Amino acid sequence: MKLTLARTAGFCMGVRRAVDMVLDAANRADGHVCTFGPLIHNSQVLEILKNKGISLLDHIPEKGQGTVLIRAHGVPPEEKQALEAAGFSVIDATCPRVIKVQTIIHKYAKLGYHTLILGDVDHSEVKGLMGYTQGNGFVIQDISDLEKLSKFPQAIMVAQTTQNHDLFSQVSAYIESNHPHYLIFNTICDSTSKRQAEVKEIAKNADAVVVVGGKNSGNTKRLHQIVQQQNIPSYHIETENDLPEQAFQYYHRVGITAGASTPNWIINRVCHRLETLSSTQLGTILQFWQTFQQALLFTNIFVAFGAGCLAFASMCMQGIPPVFAQVMMAFLYVLSMHTLNNYISRKAERYNYPYRAAFYERFRIPLLVMAFTAGLSGLILAYIQGVLAFIILLTMSLLGMTYKLTLFPSGVTSYKIHKIQDIPGSKTILIAVAWGIVTSILPSIIEKGDVPLSSLIVFIWSTGLVFGRCAFFDLLDIQGNRIVGQETLPGVMGEARTMRMLRWLSTGLFLWGIIFYFVGITHITSALVCVTALLFHSLLRFYEKKRLVSSTRLHFFVESHFVVCGLMAWGPWWIMG
Ligand code: SF4
Repeated sequence: MKLTLARTAGFCMGVRRAVDMVLDAANRADGHVCTFGPLIHNSQVLEILKNKGISLLDHIPEKGQGTVLIRAHGVPPEEKQALEAAGFSVIDATCPRVIKVQTIIHKYAKLGYHTLILGDVDHSEVKGLMGYTQGNGFVIQDISDLEKLSKFPQAIMVAQTTQNHDLFSQVSAYIESNHPHYLIFNTICDSTSKRQAEVKEIAKNADAVVVVGGKNSGNTKRLHQIVQQQNIPSYHIETENDLPEQAFQYYHRVGITAGASTPNWIINRVCHRLETLSSTQLGTILQFWQTFQQALLFTNIFVAFGAGCLAFASMCMQGIPPVFAQVMMAFLYVLSMHTLNNYISRKAERYNYPYRAAFYERFRIPLLVMAFTAGLSGLILAYIQGVLAFIILLTMSLLGMTYKLTLFPSGVTSYKIHKIQDIPGSKTILIAVAWGIVTSILPSIIEKGDVPLSSLIVFIWSTGLVFGRCAFFDLLDIQGNRIVGQETLPGVMGEARTMRMLRWLSTGLFLWGIIFYFVGITHITSALVCVTALLFHSLLRFYEKKRLVSSTRLHFFVESHFVVCGLMAWGPWWIMG
């Protein structure tokens, strides 16, 4: 089954900003956090917010305390003032595009203009906009409403940001011919129209389209209608559990889109489920391969195999004859650490990876036995190689195991950092450095008893590649991570900046390998292995164009880069030595 995910699927800018702001407030604020009205039309997200202790404030009390967040639709200015006067600390998450409309209305209302708002009188955004009209505002839904109004000496017309373009054009044309002195401002947000135009395009090349979003979300329902109007089967679902499994066994091309209030972790889960359903269309061998692929990923055996391959490649790049024991050490260390950390964070993973979390619940004993056996075997192997190697690996193992454990309980420190994990971006950096040490520095210490410049160069290269892998996964998981309060690098830097950084990083890693070979510091294999960084760069490009959806296949592709490193190094090393 070919899955096509709409580029516009999921949170629009305003909703994403509001959700991020309330989660950040809940993760950081000491007092109680609430939202003034439901934050978005998505019951799963609202339920999670409730579980995080973020409550709903439906009226302004005389006295209040804690933090209250104004949602993306905005509120009339007097309501914001009343919240502040009640004693709340107010976070204004009004969408910047809505603020722009409020500003236009406010400016002209002060000059004595009347305001006509083309929109839904009951919509909270429109109610908020009315608060800026200084009592001279009118909500119109069509031309007939306009005809009922008297002719004003001066007036402006704006639109609710989610207004229909065709209706806006009709009303504008009427005003231009009947009230040419009125000022018209097209304040429709293009997020909605782009989303609708894209789903029309997707439906043209799909056997069916899945529309993900709340059943009471207006913009999601509209997407569902648009697909139905194309005479294509459309499935409006809230979560992956609503997918009619039987029907999807027969579709070969499935489009996926989502409303503006659907978080990406729900979209990812739908993609994962569709991918699983599509396996029933495959032959027995391919079905087996897909299950096998998933098992390799869930158990971290493939990730660990990748670490072994990277260790092999790193040794070749440094000109060290590859030694099986060092490859095994990297394999065992990564297998042990990743499995233990996946196990510890299985509850947090239920948003981003529900199947893996369930797998860890179900097989926790064998997985724990595997993790401890691998860790112990790695340490024994390191001890055989030398005391220094043993001490380094033991220190890294202890650091890895304590990453998610509470080291500084709340009573002991007043700071917000209780675990190493609480340091923003620490996961990405620590995993990368640990992989870099075990794949590049340890082999050098064991084989050369030293860390020469070539080892440092290769250490930086392999650490960079692993850093790219981890930061990319953090990007995929950003909304789920925010919900569990995990501050990852993309959460701190922003998604666009992280993506830009990853593109630069992959280009830099490619040049790094080439340059240091040509200046004679690293082995010729480094000039070949660094091509992997270009492959990673291409993967990022494909992902940005939404030609790859978050799925087992994508995870497998990402982890395969390390296997490619091993293969790239193996050929030339075998031929040239
Ligand atoms: S639809 Fe547009 S205006 Fe409305 S919240 Fe989203 S980005 Fe802002």
